Amino acid sequence: MFSAILGIFGTLSHLLTMLPVLSFLLTAGFCSLSVDSLQKLAAADLRLQLTVLAAAPLTPYDVEVAETVRSRARQLRLLREGHSLTLNSAHLTGRAVDLMLLKPDRTYDNDFDHYQNLSLMMKTMATLLGVDLIWGGDWPKFKDGPHFQLKPEK
Ligand SMILES: [Zn+2]
Repeated sequence: MFSAILGIFGTLSHLLTMLPVLSFLLTAGFCSLSVDSLQKLAAADLRLQLTVLAAAPLTPYDVEVAETVRSRARQLRLLREGHSLTLNSAHLTGRAVDLMLLKPDRTYDNDFDHYQNLSLMMKTMATLLGVDLIWGGDWPKFKDGPHFQLKPEK
């Protein structure tokens, strides 16, 4: 019990010392994303919003928020077309975000290594913010580099 309290206090004081860094990153993230991306991001769970805003300025890439909340009809279509393996997607509840990287010519970058780099930044920021994050690129079957979601609540 006592060690649990100490642990919480440790996390809180750690977050407080990180506050200037975090607020700088969140502002930088806000500036680095397009209006369209910010509008899509605003529909996602707040924990995902903060993680994306903090991680985006730390990557050497241009990041686009491609999708957050998804309708049931669209999910069904993606499943039928083989772009998804589930009808029970975290996108349905705004607990997932797809981040596309842009090449200098503004087309999508499909290099998995670049998404791996992005995931390192996303995971680092999620840990810092106390967010339980899952990266689609870690899935054994259907590697989804742009996909990040919150761990399902039990
Ligand atoms: Zn996704």
